[in-house]
Amino acid sequence: MNVSGKRISVIGAVRSGIGAAKLIKKLGGVPFVSDSASESKIKSSVSLLKENKIEYETGGHSDKVYKCDLMIASPGVPSDAPVLKEAKERNIKVISELEFASRFCKGKIVAITGTNGKTTTTSLCGHLFNVCGHKTYTAGNIGLAFSEIATDVKEDEFVALEVSSFQLDLINEFKPDVAMILNITPDHLNRYENKFENYIGSKFRIFKNQDENDYLILNKDDQTINKNITGYKSKSFYFSLNEDISNGCSLSNDQVIFNRDYKPEFSFAINEMQIKGEHNIANAMAVITAAKVFDFDNGKIKEGLRTFKGVEHRLELVREINGVKYVNDSKATNVDSVWYALKSFDEPLFLILGGQDKGNDYDKIKNLVEEKVKKIYAIGSSAEKVFNFFHNIVKVELKVSLEEVISSASKEARSGDVVLLSPACASFDMFDNYEHRGKVFKEAVNNL
Ligand code: ADP
Repeated sequence: MNVSGKRISVIGAVRSGIGAAKLIKKLGGVPFVSDSASESKIKSSVSLLKENKIEYETGGHSDKVYKCDLMIASPGVPSDAPVLKEAKERNIKVISELEFASRFCKGKIVAITGTNGKTTTTSLCGHLFNVCGHKTYTAGNIGLAFSEIATDVKEDEFVALEVSSFQLDLINEFKPDVAMILNITPDHLNRYENKFENYIGSKFRIFKNQDENDYLILNKDDQTINKNITGYKSKSFYFSLNEDISNGCSLSNDQVIFNRDYKPEFSFAINEMQIKGEHNIANAMAVITAAKVFDFDNGKIKEGLRTFKGVEHRLELVREINGVKYVNDSKATNVDSVWYALKSFDEPLFLILGGQDKGNDYDKIKNLVEEKVKKIYAIGSSAEKVFNFFHNIVKVELKVSLEEVISSASKEARSGDVVLLSPACASFDMFDNYEHRGKVFKEAVNNL
């Protein structure tokens, strides 16, 4: 792609948007960044734009945004955003930051998508590949923006890339060497005309340009993937917690086994990992499969698995006080991830649920709550909904703040219990984002 002298508009003054603008400049193009948020809301982005002498506008998209040769959408911008629609109507080519950055990356790309587990898996992949002695950048929605590093990656180096469905909606040529689809459950459906099949189609775009020399790693336990998967040319590998897999990873007597053409090539005892829960075994299986695809050393793969500490705000053990564990899973913003969180504990739980509701159906966790949860603390704008759904099966108490929750929980929980923040909701009713919510939780716990 020739960028030199081209005017390129970038929608979204977030990390990736600014990364794209910097890359455009570096390649001799002229970037123009436009964001609908007011200048006061995105102060740190604005100072970065100024620092890098990048032209920008805030508080909406003016007509200037359409005076360009190409438009790039930042990862958080939904593919149906009016500004992108309008550009397409004006025959302006619109691509995602992912597509743009990938055109300039010479290294091997391991692209990771799914409804849940992207960040954990991408982070594990980056860690493990580096432990295996292969320089690997971790980029996408975590770590660095892909555009920030794309031109630095050498041919024999790797990028572990977290990929969202919005980014996949706007690709043309993006062709990862390895693509993973971890799972697909209904989420963000409001962005897909409430049609699950549209969301599935979006995730499947990850392998659309792959050929026989590329690899596709899929979750055999995911009904949605298995029922719908079709039309890929790449070599496929699977992972499963329940079935034997001839090409890929399965579980046998608490060991992860990797088979190639039915022959075992690798095994690892899952209790040697620091990250907890079945879902994390699945995430690890996906990464082991990727490492085996590249024939990395078995001993090094094991070392990578043993030394991975997990990611902040995902089932993160904050502290143990008087035998009570406090666990921060603030990133659990949908019911599905709470289901996995509940499955990860044998201890009795004090569960903190609630926040900005995304049309949650709590039926999926009803049985697990009945079995494992001693009490629910309901917070945020959906506290009443949580109360109404659960009060017949477990004690539910409404609370106005996380500080208040922790104060009560520290008095009520007994040694051996776990106090778990896994709210199943977005955080924007009470906090800036899920990281902020997690930090407030941790602070309250650390102040005990
Ligand atoms: P994402 O980047 O896709 O949002 P994260 O790794 O940030 O995924 O995890 C989000 C939430 O989902 C956390 O609560 C985490 O414990 C849970 N989770 C992680 N991996 C999986 C998985 N494979 N299946 C279901 N839930 C998962």
